[in-house]
Parts: sequence; C-alpha cells; structure tokens
Amino acid sequence: MKEILQSYTLTQIKQLMQVLHQPSFRAKQMYTWCMNYTPIREMSNLPLALREQLEQSYTSTPVTILKEYTSKDGTQKFLLQLQDHQLIECVLMHYTYGNTLCISSQVGCRMGCEFCASGKNGWFRNLTSGEMLGEVLCVNQHIGGTMQNRKITNIVLMGSGEPLDNYENTIAFIRQVSAPEGICISQRNISLSTCGLVPEIEKLAQENLDITLTISLHAATDAKRSAIMPIARRYSIAELITAVRNYQTTTKRRVVFEYVLTTTNGTHADVQALKNLCKGLLCHINIIPLNQGVSAQTTVSRTRAEAFCKKLEEAGLSATVRRTLGADIEGACGQLKRRYLENQSNS
Ligand code: SAH
Repeated sequence: MKEILQSYTLTQIKQLMQVLHQPSFRAKQMYTWCMNYTPIREMSNLPLALREQLEQSYTSTPVTILKEYTSKDGTQKFLLQLQDHQLIECVLMHYTYGNTLCISSQVGCRMGCEFCASGKNGWFRNLTSGEMLGEVLCVNQHIGGTMQNRKITNIVLMGSGEPLDNYENTIAFIRQVSAPEGICISQRNISLSTCGLVPEIEKLAQENLDITLTISLHAATDAKRSAIMPIARRYSIAELITAVRNYQTTTKRRVVFEYVLTTTNGTHADVQALKNLCKGLLCHINIIPLNQGVSAQTTVSRTRAEAFCKKLEEAGLSATVRRTLGADIEGACGQLKRRYLENQSNS
C-alpha cells in the first residue's frame, strides 16, 4: 500500500519536501492539492519529475467512490473502496444549517452490538487518519466543495467502527480535519460517538478538543444493556457515567446520549433510571427508533418514540426523536456494505 499524504500534517509535508530537496514553498502547494483531493499526477504547479517520484510511493486519493445511492429525502450514501480493496461507507445528510458527513473509523467493528450491522462480519482493520480525512475530502470534492469553500460543514464519527478502539488515528484525524491551514471544519461541529470505552473516554477528556462526545447508551440498566452490547459486560453503566461526568467537568461540553428505542427499553422504569443517570449532567438524549436491519429486537413506531420522548421531558430531561434519514438506502451503520457484499456473492 502506498503512503497516504493526508496522514501528514503541513509540518510533516514540509519535512518531506526537505528530504526530497524541494524548496519550502512546495509544501503549502502540495498540502493544498491534498486538501482538494487532487491526484498527485494532476498537481499541476509541481515539477513533473517530483510528481513522478512521489507517485511511486505516495497517494493523495486513498479512498474512491465505488457506489453512490441517493435517498428520496436527499440523503446520500457512499460505498468507498480503500487501497487494499476493503470497503467502508459514509453517509451525507443535508440539513438547513449545512451538510453533515457520517464517517467510518474502522473496517468492520469488534464491539459486537446485537442490532448493528457493522460488526456482523467481524473486524478487519483500523482506518488510518489519512483514510478518515480521505472520506471527508473525497466526498467534499465529489459534491463540488474545495478546501477554501467546503461543502461539508459537520462531521459525525458514527459510521462503521468504534472510534475509541482506534484512538490514535481518530485523534490525529480530528486535529487534521480541524487544522486552520486545511479544510478547517470546526471541532464544535464534530461529534464522536462511542459505545463506552471508559479508559479512552478518560483519556479523551485530556486532549483539549472542542468536540461533542456522544455515548451510545441504548439501555438504562446493566442487565438490559449487557443483553445487547457486549461492552456493557466490561464496564458498568455506573463506571461509564462517572467517566462521562469527569469528561464534562474537564471539558465543560454538553454530552449526548443515543438511545435506540425498541419494544423493551421504553418503560416507566427506564425513564426513572435515565432520570437518575442524568442527574446534574448537562446532556441531551437522542432517541432513535431501531432500524430493524440485522436485529432480532422489534422496532417501535415514531408515535411511540415521541411518547417516550415526552415522558423523558416530563422527567426534566432534554430529549428529541432523531429524524430518520435515508432509511430506503440502508442508512444505518454497516448495512449498505453488508447488502452490497450479499448481492455480489449471489450474482
Ligand atoms: N461505535 C460507535 C459509533 C458507531 S455506531 C458507537 O457505538 O457509538 C453509531 C450509532 O448508530 C450508534 O448509536 C449505534 O447504536 C447506531 N446504530 C447502529 N445500528 C443501528 C440500528 N440498527 N438502528 C438504529 N441505530 C443504530
């Protein structure tokens, strides 16, 4: 596999230019091309000999769009191919305030949540920071954006994979995608979603990032959570909430809980348990009616999700039912790749 130029910061590109005996102004030129997702051979203000030399060992287009699907609601889903032919997916959602890209952090996932398609075929490998940045830059370019005039305004790390299980690459990615000299997406517009790796949440609090931490909670008791999320057998809800409280004390940032609603986790007792967990926390609860997909659990109607939301609000909590976008194009985690591979093997 070729070395990915988007894994390099501007400082590192400067060092690379030095090693290659290039004048220092080349670094900014090359970095800008990379942020515009231009193939090395098309970096027209770099000497041809340099481009040819770089192309031998480097790439500036680490992901390519293999398929694109557009939902009735305008949501776009991209099946992306990596250099080693592994597949990942990302989803572009259009909102009035801008465009949010949901990106993957790993090929596959090893968390094994019952309802989630991403981990059903296991875990293959981590994405590098350059590949994660590649997802953003590739889609930005595809929809007509540039480094200066970006079309993607928000990023959620909620695609396939567990970002905190790929800690170093995820942190490097967040710093690079928000760097002022690059595509410069504000950290305030970036959400990182985790199933709750407690030690990594503690570490994340020390990184001095302005991102939103989102916790996939999905149940309010250890018994219910363990039944659908293997991670809950490693860390109790009490331990998780302690880490979240510490995170808030350090970062002063509001945290978000995600709650995939089924027919079993929306009882009065669940409302009370959630109320206790959230006591004194500045937080918001996102209710997501289960996307049936691979799950053996039963989904609920939007009306029922709204009734649950109302009960949470009556208990003094801030909650909303998330809009379900892209349901007709396998919008949920890992479903598109799964369907694509199934069709390949059937044909
Ligand atoms: N591993 C991270 C990020 C990926 S999952 C995490 O667990 O948070 C991102 C979100 O999509 C999670 O909240 C996850 O629970 C949700 N999700 C996955 N499968 C889903 C499904 N079938 N229906 C609804 N939401 C789902």
